[in-house]
Amino acid sequence: MRAVVLNASNTPLQMVEDHPAPAADGGLILDVTACGVCHSDIHVADGDFGKEPPIILGHEVTGVHPELGPVMLYAPWGCRNCSECSQGLEMICSNSSEAGLFTDGGYADQLRIPGVEYLTPLDGLDPYDSAPLACGGLTAYRAVLHGLDRLRERGSDARALVIGAGGLGQYAIRYLRLLSDAHVTALDLSDAKQATAVEIGAHEAAGSLDDSTAGFDLVIDFIGAEATLRTAADHINKLGTVAVVGLAGGSIPFGFGAVPLETHFVASVWGSRGQLDEMLDLARREPSIVQPVEVLPLADAQSAHDRMRSGDLRGRIVLDISGAHS
Ligand SMILES: [Zn+2]
Ligand SMILES: [Zn+2]
Repeated sequence: MRAVVLNASNTPLQMVEDHPAPAADGGLILDVTACGVCHSDIHVADGDFGKEPPIILGHEVTGVHPELGPVMLYAPWGCRNCSECSQGLEMICSNSSEAGLFTDGGYADQLRIPGVEYLTPLDGLDPYDSAPLACGGLTAYRAVLHGLDRLRERGSDARALVIGAGGLGQYAIRYLRLLSDAHVTALDLSDAKQATAVEIGAHEAAGSLDDSTAGFDLVIDFIGAEATLRTAADHINKLGTVAVVGLAGGSIPFGFGAVPLETHFVASVWGSRGQLDEMLDLARREPSIVQPVEVLPLADAQSAHDRMRSGDLRGRIVLDISGAHS
């Protein structure tokens, strides 16, 4: 089969035309249709986390199953034995075997998956445009859900702040507008991203906040730098939630006096299998969640990574694995 392989950290991806096909080995083989390119792929390629190469990257996977038809893959597989896994929270399992991060992923014609329970039928969703929902869309969905009850309690007085209006931030803005009555503010240094944020539903967008800005009941930080976490802690309301999603590695002090009383801080990661199903239901009802993507052939995986590193992107890139994209 064709596969794009990371042979060693910090080396270019290699297109292999005759890579050995995976063995089912108690699981099953999925024919891949499309695979989104995610920032986490860059982190694995750089050796920041994930399995020691060689590895086939790619965890935003759609494919075709002989009985289910077109499907989306839930990629954060856990051990299926621990207490987190038994609650359906496989993305925080300590013995994770996530596709594309710890085992071979979707930058290939075929992929071995542990079982059919990791597949959700697309039921009409486009396999290319929807592929980034598998990680980007789901991660933003879980982050919003961490604070949604509080936003609903506050009704039309609720206020939410989205820090970082790139791909994930844009999903979060759409979810917040669809699922709550909160006033939504987007924070991003880029004028273009501020404009996009307002276009898709944010009530306002800015490059910075000042001390006179009213507090927020939910802050989602898609950057995760010390400065953005500081902004979050400075502007969160009592009983509010700060969800950090971004992997910039920043940290701030936590304790009495360091953060407002009765605030909640959560490092939010990916989403559960149940949340993937919920989010896909929402996407079928609200097509605005599924945005057109840029589709590139599998052989262009390295140039997709290069462009992601340089920030030369408008939305998400999806690799056309099956060649079915028209
Ligand atoms: Zn587990
Ligand atoms: Zn991802």
